[in-house]
Amino acid sequence: MAVKFQDYYKILGVERNATEKDVRNAYRKLARKHHPDLQPPEKKEEAEKEFKMINEAYEVLKDKEKRSRYDRLGANWEHGDAFNDQHHYQQRPGYQRNQTGSGDFEGFSFNFGGEQGSGSFSDFFESIFGGAFSGGGGGPSRRTRRPRRGVDVEAELEVTLEEIYQGREKQLQFSLQDLCDKCGGTGQLGNSFCQACGGGGHVSTAKTIKLKVPRDARSGKKIRLKGQGGDAEAGGERGDLYLKVKVMPHSRFTLNGDDLETKVTIYPWQAVLGGKITAPTLDGSVRVTIPPRTHNGHRMRLRGKGMPRVGGEHGDLYLQLILDIPAKVEPEAEELYRKLAEFTGEKEGYGA
Ligand SMILES: [Zn+2]
Repeated sequence: MAVKFQDYYKILGVERNATEKDVRNAYRKLARKHHPDLQPPEKKEEAEKEFKMINEAYEVLKDKEKRSRYDRLGANWEHGDAFNDQHHYQQRPGYQRNQTGSGDFEGFSFNFGGEQGSGSFSDFFESIFGGAFSGGGGGPSRRTRRPRRGVDVEAELEVTLEEIYQGREKQLQFSLQDLCDKCGGTGQLGNSFCQACGGGGHVSTAKTIKLKVPRDARSGKKIRLKGQGGDAEAGGERGDLYLKVKVMPHSRFTLNGDDLETKVTIYPWQAVLGGKITAPTLDGSVRVTIPPRTHNGHRMRLRGKGMPRVGGEHGDLYLQLILDIPAKVEPEAEELYRKLAEFTGEKEGYGA
């Protein structure tokens, strides 16, 4: 694609050795004269083109870096008025072409009405400077304020089995990276870094939320709280807060899916004769009947005494029956055991 050479000095009507001041004065004069808003309707279109070239010429000649680049490369066009820009692009990896738009120079705000996406610079300008230069020029470049969604935040939610079982409300405190109020998240105040956030655009804010522990809270589950995450940039949506559940170990119960397990001690006479024992649940203790001839390690299922499920049902509670003797054996009881031993004799085999 052929690109037409633009003589920026000629456009502004200044000499090649013009000073910055000469350039600025020439630009101001021409910009006022050709400003499209000051033209009669039939001349508006022509004026816009001219005004655009004046601004482009000024954009280059007011800037030392751009001007010297233009002077250097411009020499190659003196001998012919076209060059192959394809070749040129290849020498500039990372080049982005899509960044031009309306600009804002010296308080003039201009906008090339109606021509969406046509760009405010000529192909010539873009072939020399590309997107990297456009709109910049001196001082920290302004960050584009596109509405961006705030970050998602993850925090750990420690819960006990009781809190899940009873669906208790919990209060949670954590710190969140919020947009800095002072600079609005840009990290800049005027031409310097924002002190309040150290230029990062975010500040750490303490936050408290309350939530009812869901019935299906289990270790590793993530609870999403929409819009409770990081602050968004202008116009954007807040991020979400993800609470990663950690179920704390319990002194009595072991959690296995929706089921609970616990050990309960039974005594020799209960094991042989059966009877009622007291067993713990998360909902208080219950009386449980054990059948006669119950062996050590036997498991009993208490239906519906486990953890709550989403639908309203519960898992089960498994009691593992551990056969033991009481801590204290009264002399009368010992006498009975002796009788039992005499009665049983060697029949039961290999015990002590
Ligand atoms: Zn700030």
